[in-house]
Amino acid sequence: MNPQERAKERREKRLQEISLLRTIPYSEHHRWWTPETIAVVTGANRGIGYEITRQLAMHGLTVILTSRDSVVGLETTKVLQEGGLNVVFHQLDVIDPLSIKTFSEWVEQTYGGIDILVNNAGVSFNLGSDNSVENADNVIATNYYGTKNMIQAMIPLMRPSAAGARIVNVSSRLGRLNGRRNRIEDVKLRQELNNDESLSEELIDGTVENFLKQTKDGSWVSGGWPKSNTDYAVSKLAVNAYTRLMGKILSDRPEGHKIYINCYCPGWVKTAMTNWVGNISAEDGADTGVWLALLPGQPATGKFFAERREISF
Ligand code: NDP
Repeated sequence: MNPQERAKERREKRLQEISLLRTIPYSEHHRWWTPETIAVVTGANRGIGYEITRQLAMHGLTVILTSRDSVVGLETTKVLQEGGLNVVFHQLDVIDPLSIKTFSEWVEQTYGGIDILVNNAGVSFNLGSDNSVENADNVIATNYYGTKNMIQAMIPLMRPSAAGARIVNVSSRLGRLNGRRNRIEDVKLRQELNNDESLSEELIDGTVENFLKQTKDGSWVSGGWPKSNTDYAVSKLAVNAYTRLMGKILSDRPEGHKIYINCYCPGWVKTAMTNWVGNISAEDGADTGVWLALLPGQPATGKFFAERREISF
C-alpha cells in the first residue's frame, strides 16, 4: 500500500468512527444548552453552513440561519422550520459593515445576545490546478476580514454563562502555517506567526495586506506564498492565526464570562465550492464544527481541529 492509500484508509476508518460517535446522544449531564441557547451560523443557506445549522437545531438549540441573499435564506429556513426545527432567518453579508451592524442590533434587541457563533461563510475561486489570484481581494475580505469582523461584532453580545460562549471558525488545512506542501517560504515570517509572543493583529493584517499588494504588482508569483490555492490558503492561514491570537486574548476572561474559540478543517467536502468533487458529504464536513460548538466541560481554546481531533497549525 502506498502512503496515499494508507492515508485514505486511515481517513475512511476515522470517518466511520465519527459516524458511530454521532449516533450516541449527548447525556443530560453533558447537555449544557437549552432551546433558548442561540447559535448564529454565517453563510448558512447551503453547503457546510446549512448542515451545521440543521445539526445544531436537531440538538435542540435555536439557530439563526444567516445568508447574504434574503430570498434564498428565507426559503432554506422555511424548509428547516417545516421539519420542526427551531431556525430563524436574518440577512447577513459578512463583508458589508452595515449588514453586520443591522444584524448585531437585531440580535441584541430580539434575544439579548448570542451563545455560539459559527463563522462558516467563505469563497474560493481556485478549482483544480487553476491558481488565479484575480479574486484575492474578495477571498481575503470574505474569509479573513469577514470572520474577524463578525468575531469583533459578536464578542460584546456573547451572553455570560457557566458553560461559556463558543466561536467556531471553519478553516482549512490549506492554511497550515507549517504544512509540508503548501506553506509560506519565509522562515522568519513563519516563526513570527507561530510564536505567541510575536503574534499580533498587526502581524496578521500586515501579512495579508502585503500579499494583496503583491497580487496587484504581480510580484506574488515569486513572493514565497503557498503554492496551491494561494489566495485561499493565505486567507485561511490568517483565520487560523487569528483564532490562536483570540484564544490567547479571550482566555483572560473571568469564570462565567468565558468565550472559547477554535477553528477546524472540514475535509474535502462535496459542495458548490469544490464543484461537488470532494470526498465527503456536507453532513460529515459539518460534524467537527457542531462537536466543537457543543463541547461540554471546559473546552480547549485557540486550537485547530479536524475529524474531532486537535491538529497542528
Ligand atoms: P459553499 O460555496 O457551498 O458555501 C459557502 C457559503 O458562504 C454560501 O452560503 C455563500 O453564500 C456564503 N458566503 C460567501 N460570501 C459571503 C458573504 N460575503 N456573506 C455571507 N455569506 C457568504 O461552500 P462550503 O459549504 O464548502 O464552504 C463553507 C466553508 O467551509 C467555507 O469557509 C470554506 O472555505 C470552508 N471549507 C470548505 C471545504 C470544502 O471542501 N468544501 C474545505 C475546507 C474549508 P451564497 O450562496 O450567497 O454564495
